[in-house]
Amino acid sequence: MQRVLFLSGRTGGGPRAAAAATAHATRAAVVSWLAIPLASAAVADGNFRVVGVAADRAAAIVTAAEEARSTAFTTLLDQPAPAAWRVRCEVHVHHDPGAFAAAVGGPPAAARGATSIEFGETDVLLRRIDVMGDGSAVVPDALAHEIVHVVLADHFVAGPPPRWADEGLAVLFDAADIQRRHDADFRTGQDHGLAWSPRDLLMLDQLPSGTPRQRVFYGQSAAVVRWLVARRDPATFIRFLDDSAVRGTEAALQAHYDLDSIAALEQAWREVPAFTLLGMTSPNRQSGE
Ligand SMILES: [Zn+2]
Repeated sequence: MQRVLFLSGRTGGGPRAAAAATAHATRAAVVSWLAIPLASAAVADGNFRVVGVAADRAAAIVTAAEEARSTAFTTLLDQPAPAAWRVRCEVHVHHDPGAFAAAVGGPPAAARGATSIEFGETDVLLRRIDVMGDGSAVVPDALAHEIVHVVLADHFVAGPPPRWADEGLAVLFDAADIQRRHDADFRTGQDHGLAWSPRDLLMLDQLPSGTPRQRVFYGQSAAVVRWLVARRDPATFIRFLDDSAVRGTEAALQAHYDLDSIAALEQAWREVPAFTLLGMTSPNRQSGE
């Protein structure tokens, strides 16, 4: 039995046809792997099935995954009671970089997680997250970030969201120390001329090649999303993305953010808003100005 893991953001084939929101891939690639047999410690409950760790740890990961899913649906999609997934999201936990790389097909050396989603005609056929679980923490550090990609795929059924928005939102669900490292990568890259203009960043439809620029991409994308989210709220950002796909980015920026051009997004990296921890958000939290 084989399944296909899509590492590129856009695989063609039209709406709902095997498009995939994915994470942390160095290059467009399509690989496959032999389905991993049911491990004795696999725990399946609710919307998740966790493979690769002992049962008690797997149960704790399922609990954390459900919380992250619920928070992402509530915060981003305004769905406090989302329907259960008909196809559970598999979470494969790896204990060394070699196993992780073998499962996802050669990610960047520093990658901690990857997401693959396979779409059928009317529904998602496969949801799979691979994460490194080698640290001391029970819950893998990349879990919430990857769950954001999976949740966003439920909304962006006609095609994945722009890469900068997909990754930027996911980074806002990372822990504060991870967000700070991404931001430091961006600031360092900016000093070395590796950052993008707002327009160029928004037009990227694939991850840039090479680890140094990928690091800048994550940090810079998160900086823009953090700034826009701070101007309104996460749900407005999603509506802005929906609107951008219909009538263009500039019109959507004007409508939702009172910004008269894409170039105005330069302010995003001059004004540095406080770190936003969407993964820790309570339903009543206000993240406005
Ligand atoms: Zn990601």
